Amino acid sequence: MAPSPHVVVLGAGYTGLTAAKLIARRTGATVTLINSRDRFVERMRNHQLASGQRLRHMPLRDLLVGAGIRLIVDRVTGIDLGQRQVELLGGEPVGYDLLVYALGSQADLDSVPGAAEHATAVAGAEQAARLRERMRSASTVVVVGGGLTGIEAATELAETYPDRRVQLVTRATLGVALSERAQAYLHRTFDGLGIRLREHAQVAEVATDGVLLADGEHLGSDVVVWTTGFRVPDLARDAGLAVGDNGRMLVDSTMRSVSHPEVYGVGDAAAAGKPDGRELRMGCGPGGLTVACTVQAIGDRLAGRTPRQLRLEGDGYCISLGRKDGLVQYTHADGSALGPMLTGRPAAVFKEAIVRGAGGLGLRHPALALVAGSRVLV
Ligand SMILES: Cc1cc2nc3c(=O)[nH]c(=O)nc-3n(C[C@H](O)[C@H](O)[C@H](O)COP(=O)(O)OP(=O)(O)OC[C@H]3O[C@@H](n4cnc5c(N)ncnc54)[C@H](O)[C@@H]3O)c2cc1C
Repeated sequence: MAPSPHVVVLGAGYTGLTAAKLIARRTGATVTLINSRDRFVERMRNHQLASGQRLRHMPLRDLLVGAGIRLIVDRVTGIDLGQRQVELLGGEPVGYDLLVYALGSQADLDSVPGAAEHATAVAGAEQAARLRERMRSASTVVVVGGGLTGIEAATELAETYPDRRVQLVTRATLGVALSERAQAYLHRTFDGLGIRLREHAQVAEVATDGVLLADGEHLGSDVVVWTTGFRVPDLARDAGLAVGDNGRMLVDSTMRSVSHPEVYGVGDAAAAGKPDGRELRMGCGPGGLTVACTVQAIGDRLAGRTPRQLRLEGDGYCISLGRKDGLVQYTHADGSALGPMLTGRPAAVFKEAIVRGAGGLGLRHPALALVAGSRVLV
């Protein structure tokens, strides 16, 4: 490899942008960052966008001032692993010595008939903007999915539009990954906001006028918001990188592809394993830790050192419940609570600080991600 290797980072979301800046600053590599649009999208605020709130405009060029990174705004259409080059929709292919794959995730709208045609989502900025428009004339909304995104979307919409009927349908219980105490708090919050809840209900089809449940019941609504999980782009699989059943790139404990050692994967698009054998879940928090691990590993390997490994046992949930309420709960590996559960306005303030940090301070001063990540590198 050349003395100053060329590292190409695909995707300028939370993880790709942070990784590119840290690699440029800490490893001496030449860095090129490729992203499909010229601005940073604060995905963690998409439910706020859908509820009509104005979000900051964040041009990537502003966020990259002084970073010494070449930015290419173009869509990645393929990766030629043999030639070690990235193919673009508009421009010439870009060669690399090391590749960091950070293409994130999107809404999974293909799992149920009619969802792609009739539902909208909050996973992407354009979808969230479409939902905002549809909310102008809607009087009833069904949110499908009782995970963190569904909870945040339903509460934000219900708080913003108290005169609309908001209903959430989930095939499990609300916030199934959370402790019983946290779930009880969520139930009280939903009651307080007037959100109707349908647990253990499976949506079989989405239509123009609502959703059809597996038991044949029809829930009428003007708008259906689909939040049943994220899926990743097919690029890693299509390129021939080792991926799991869900298409996430398989990486070792230093975030390096298990099939191609010159490729690293971070964020939602890559599946790092936890000590208990499960995958690190998609999310900005876990994604930040994968960035810290990747940057350290690239730096260590370029310097001839053995890299440290990511070892993440517990987890943390930091959920907004509208603008005035929230829920923060950290957990041990077995899911039991770690420290007290924070709720109400203090949790809302804490959550806002986290989102503001991840989309502002953290991007301008990405070394903060390394500080957080050093806790879980062994
Ligand atoms: C409403 C909502 C609320 C959320 N709240 C939380 C939360 O509270 N806490 C939490 O931890 N997580 C939260 N998440 C999840 C979090 O947003 C994601 O986990 C995070 O964005 C993943 O970061 P990433 O860098 O992997 O991908 P992304 O942020 O999705 O970035 C991927 C980038 O790749 C670019 N890209 C994709 N394909 C291509 C291509 N072919 N060519 C070029 N560029 C491409 C995209 O434009 C994007 O810039 C939330 C998500 C949503 C939708």
